[in-house]
Amino acid sequence: MTAIVVHGGAGLVAAERHARLRDGVRAAAAAGDAILSRGGSSLDAVVAAVRVLEDDPEFNAGCGSALTRDGTVETDASVMDGATQRVGAVGAVPDLGCAIALARAVLDRGEHVLLAGSSAWDFAREVGIAPAPAGALITERARMRLADVQKGTVGAVARDRDGRFAAATSTGGIAGKRRGRVGDSPIPGAGTWADAHCAISATGDGEAILRVALAHSIAMRIASGTPIDRAVRESLSELQRVTNGSAGVIAVDRSAFSALQLSSTMPVAAISDGVHADSMGTQI
Ligand code: ASP
Repeated sequence: MTAIVVHGGAGLVAAERHARLRDGVRAAAAAGDAILSRGGSSLDAVVAAVRVLEDDPEFNAGCGSALTRDGTVETDASVMDGATQRVGAVGAVPDLGCAIALARAVLDRGEHVLLAGSSAWDFAREVGIAPAPAGALITERARMRLADVQKGTVGAVARDRDGRFAAATSTGGIAGKRRGRVGDSPIPGAGTWADAHCAISATGDGEAILRVALAHSIAMRIASGTPIDRAVRESLSELQRVTNGSAGVIAVDRSAFSALQLSSTMPVAAISDGVHADSMGTQI
């Protein structure tokens, strides 16, 4: 029983962009499902899904990333393998268009969990990842968004044929952030989590997500037997109560998946055993 669920970031999205976002998350879910349906791993599937969205300028990751207050791009990403609880992550790396690929290389190397800042480029070069040409990740929409702060991130969670879970999240962060700011997305247990029971990717107010270790709190509820939808709901309500912030989550466990958010929209696409579903998100 395979499943892949993809999100394109929680926030407020103008109606005229909905169709493009829906197409994007559908294409990403299809890329992940192509791997799962030929017996591939959940780890490969979530990375493939997130790569599709990093290259899609509609989303706040890779090309199209939110800009720092200085008008630059610094990306965060992480990928976690539930079967082994190994993680690879990168934070605040300038001009990095395929942050999830570098996060995966960090995981595969196994020496560290998180590499941050421009020094991460030393490792990126070692594994054959090159910086994007100057300005290539900056879209007109991202420039305009600097004035009009808006959210969005991309993520994927999957369960493969062997029942292994994986989660991946990639983002440009929040528009207008300070250089050097690292959000929740690359932090295991905050924006991303996978273990033997479930996989979770979060989006929304990074600082709020970090303060309640959102993904881990959902995983703990699932591990103690709470049904997945209720686990997500309870942890999102806790985040709102404690921080007054907003967030959205996709999660998958052994028997089901869930996609819920506190904000008005979150494009989501899922493919579970060949059955496709998508939505602009269920607000709680
Ligand atoms: N959570 C991301 C961050 O704070 C932003 C987002 O999901 O929109 O970096």
